[in-house]
Amino acid sequence: MRIVVTGGAGFIGSALVRHLVLERGAQVLTIDALTYAGNRASLEAVKTCANHRFLQADIRNSAAMHEAITTFAPDRIMHLAAESHVDRSITGADNFISTNVVGTFTLLEVARNYWNGLAARAKTDFRFLHVSTDEVYGSLGADGLFTEQTPYDPSSPYSASKAASDHLAKAWYRTYGLPVVVSNCSNNYGPYHFPEKLIPLSILNAMERKPLPVYGKGDNIRDWLHVDDHARALDLIAGKGRPGETYNVGGGNERRNIDVVLQICKLLDQFVPGPTSRAELIEFVTDRPGHDARYAIDATKLETELGWRAQETFETGIAKTVRWYLDNEWWWRPLRDRYDGERLGLSVAGGAGKAA
Ligand code: NAD
Repeated sequence: MRIVVTGGAGFIGSALVRHLVLERGAQVLTIDALTYAGNRASLEAVKTCANHRFLQADIRNSAAMHEAITTFAPDRIMHLAAESHVDRSITGADNFISTNVVGTFTLLEVARNYWNGLAARAKTDFRFLHVSTDEVYGSLGADGLFTEQTPYDPSSPYSASKAASDHLAKAWYRTYGLPVVVSNCSNNYGPYHFPEKLIPLSILNAMERKPLPVYGKGDNIRDWLHVDDHARALDLIAGKGRPGETYNVGGGNERRNIDVVLQICKLLDQFVPGPTSRAELIEFVTDRPGHDARYAIDATKLETELGWRAQETFETGIAKTVRWYLDNEWWWRPLRDRYDGERLGLSVAGGAGKAA
């Protein structure tokens, strides 16, 4: 199996590359532009693997994508490259539109061109997996779950750009027959997560006994999934998912943001006891108007059709994650020195960013 992974130096992409290279023995070409969120250190585990190659290139560069894809000749393209941080999309949406929308369009066109030239069997077996988010569905009230039939209703520039790219991916299937599958996943957490998002930021700030900013009253609810469970789901969806279909991915781990931060404090207090509880570092900061209240995923289709099950509960996954940050300062220290943990959404008039 020959697989191109775009965005493979990012948080989820690098988990997927490690899974494909180390556990599945696939031949993998990682394509990544190495923006602020991309990090070669996240691919340290596959650095010496003969079945992994890395190419620094931008998905918006059609000629570079064409060259890379026709030369490597993949059986699958798994597309994760994106601008992914809601707060940054509020302060400047340009890159979100150009990478997430135009970049996805560019990649779809290159893939279509490549796929058209394949022999009949390879053409049938080829898959383009477009990796997306549950945020395209908007916000839930107290009840209900996002299903694959939930209408799109994105709130932020980030989720709107992902919704646009989902529609392009589906259109390339319906119009051109390109075997596209779309996955929409809930919030991920785990190792190698850039420390601007709620969980890694809270872990590192709590470790260093810095303030722990929580938006509003901390009662926004997210459905948390360990990144390795997501990687396994993506592998399954790309391998067995039906072209033209969407698969929702979620672990059924709904938590209020405040409870997530309290859990991190509790774990750190256990692992590295100190004079006072880290929970005292929590600071509630101004919420963003329009901040989505609740996300929760119904993953029944993925579970019944493809047999996927999350292996981590939130309790097991978050304990491993906190432990990983304690043990892997080599990875996060250089990032922390460049980015000190300010929550970017706070710099926008009236608002704060999404806690993920
Ligand atoms: P990330 O920000 O950690 O990584 C994105 C990667 O894409 C980085 O390595 C970056 O260098 C690369 N990239 C950005 N622009 C590029 C470009 N123009 N050309 C080539 N590479 C480029 O993001 P992530 O959290 O790993 O998310 C990966 C994908 O999964 C995204 O598509 C995101 O929308 C989706 N997703 C994320 C979550 C989550 O909780 N993080 C949940 C559901 C879906």
